[in-house]
Amino acid sequence: MSTAAGTDLMPAAFLGHGNPMNALDDNRYTQAWRSFGSAVPRPRAILVVSAHWYINATAVTAMPKPRTIHDFYGFPKPLFDIDYPAPGLPELATEVSDVVKPTWVGADVDSWGIDHGTWSVLLHAFPNADIPVVQLSINADKDFDYHLELGAKLSTLRERGVLIIGSGNVVHNLRGMSHTLPESGYDWAQRFDEQVKETMQTEPTETLALDRHQDFGHAVPTPDHFLPLLYLAGLAGAADQGADVLIDGYAYGSLSMTAYTLGLQCPGAATGTGPAADLPADVPPDGTNI
Ligand code: ZN
Repeated sequence: MSTAAGTDLMPAAFLGHGNPMNALDDNRYTQAWRSFGSAVPRPRAILVVSAHWYINATAVTAMPKPRTIHDFYGFPKPLFDIDYPAPGLPELATEVSDVVKPTWVGADVDSWGIDHGTWSVLLHAFPNADIPVVQLSINADKDFDYHLELGAKLSTLRERGVLIIGSGNVVHNLRGMSHTLPESGYDWAQRFDEQVKETMQTEPTETLALDRHQDFGHAVPTPDHFLPLLYLAGLAGAADQGADVLIDGYAYGSLSMTAYTLGLQCPGAATGTGPAADLPADVPPDGTNI
């Protein structure tokens, strides 16, 4: 499959957000997110599928002024003080409903907003917070096929200036996290992440089948952080194009920080070595909702 850019389609991405302290940090991952944000044409709006809006429905935020949600526990106060004041775009909620028919999408006007899966990466990619942001929930009742197909249906929005971003982590096992491994991954984490890389670059829709991988159970103990990747895989399949690795690496043994782009290469974004943001020593990873 070709990985060349050069169409009128807005690029798309999956960003591995890691622990929310990345929002306040400057490291090679946050720099790669910045490179991505600088390289894309200015979007009309950003539609984010965040791991942290994982509910029993398919819904889209439809409020003109979404609130910044601090949906985690135990972190330092500066993280709770962050505001990402991007406007919403209620008309995009209607467009999303139209392009995914007959799939039903609810319009959320008062329950959600912009969660940390979204703002922790957008703070770096679009620091001015002046581009409208809309979130699409992940329906926890649906299987992998549903999410991949929904991603494919969203591809029409790429022709309308909408930047679609999945935010999660390919490998995300909070119980397995070790403070002694700030920038390495367990063998099983590396095996799974490497397989996902190969699949996303060559046959992205085959990510559906990775629940049969020997390490899936360790890498994806709950599907919430993996599912945003399936939206990019669906978009990639619809475009008949492989995704490109924006940056890769590991955090605390059991998180992969790998990020992908579609329709846009950012050479030089993934330079150097070094860890993602420190997880404060007194923050137990399990139970923090990261
Ligand atoms: Zn998260």
